[in-house]
Amino acid sequence: MRRSQYLLVLFSLAFSAIHVACVQSTASMAIHQEMITTTPLPILHFAASPMTLTPDPIDELLEDLQATPVRFVFPTQIANLGPDWRPPPYNTPLALRPEDHYYFARPIPSGEVNWPNPSYRYGNTFFSDTTVHTGVDLGADQGADVLAAGDGEVIWVGYGLYRGFEDLTDPYGLAIAIRHDFGHKGKQLYTLYAHLEKTIVWLGQRVKVGDKIGTVGITGHTTGPHLHFEVRLGENDYYSTRNPELWMVPPEGWAILAGRVTNSYGHYLMEQLVEITSLVDGQTWTVKTYKHTAINMDDEYKENFVISDLPSGPYEIKINYFGVNMKTQLFLYPGRTNIIHFMGWKGYTLEDALEESVLSEPPVP
Ligand SMILES: [Zn+2]
Repeated sequence: MRRSQYLLVLFSLAFSAIHVACVQSTASMAIHQEMITTTPLPILHFAASPMTLTPDPIDELLEDLQATPVRFVFPTQIANLGPDWRPPPYNTPLALRPEDHYYFARPIPSGEVNWPNPSYRYGNTFFSDTTVHTGVDLGADQGADVLAAGDGEVIWVGYGLYRGFEDLTDPYGLAIAIRHDFGHKGKQLYTLYAHLEKTIVWLGQRVKVGDKIGTVGITGHTTGPHLHFEVRLGENDYYSTRNPELWMVPPEGWAILAGRVTNSYGHYLMEQLVEITSLVDGQTWTVKTYKHTAINMDDEYKENFVISDLPSGPYEIKINYFGVNMKTQLFLYPGRTNIIHFMGWKGYTLEDALEESVLSEPPVP
């Protein structure tokens, strides 16, 4: 094949294989987060030393954290202040259990919508589209600040991130990629910020967590302004993403639920609806399990759904399995991944709760 033919085939393959489907209803984007001052929920107090730039500093820092006794105050359930309110997030990094890796800050500041749009989660497809979503969509307004999720170096600024060369039709639109100063279990971490309105960093620039790098826009393949945010592990490519909801720190006192939903024989169920209802106020969330194309499960959890930003507390989980509503109840602990397994007619299994010593009241000073 001549080089020009080869390039043509390569190019058309790229066009047909992808698009970063980020569709966002305008209704869901009109949400504004109110900053309400309440009594802080002091969940964790640990003295973390500043990150260093030695190889895999996160692992060292986490070892320090695990060596330090964690003072854990069980949160009092606070009044429901509405679905669009969040406490401020925990500081990074946060890993209450050894498998956890909440290393990244939210890339949108508090005061804006800085949580994943529940209708456009990682690993799902939308409408009749068969392309799977490789990130999360944070529904902040056009022009809202976009922040670096962690320390690192800017390795991409501009149009063309998907294809790797400048291209104004790239599905990510105007985008930034950061290679972080830390990794996870020997693998490099990257974050990616797409559909931007403008960028204020340059290639090779060093950034610190929380630095403003650009603003939310509507460039690329999107039907409304929002930030498309990806976490990539190992390689900086479309096929190396992980679910960002397992990497971004939750709001203080709030929890993350990850699940493995299979049939009775252990085969993963794709795009299975899972309903989660708070036993405190009856609020219900829904999440669909992954469609396993171009996305990756966590190496440890092997999950096929994640839902973050759930206030800590008791919940009921419901899965309709061949017409039968299969339910269970569980308590979601704050600041950590809570794991549930569903195995068809065999029902649910839960991982053990935190050990007593971790859940005890802090010592009296
Ligand atoms: Zn998106």
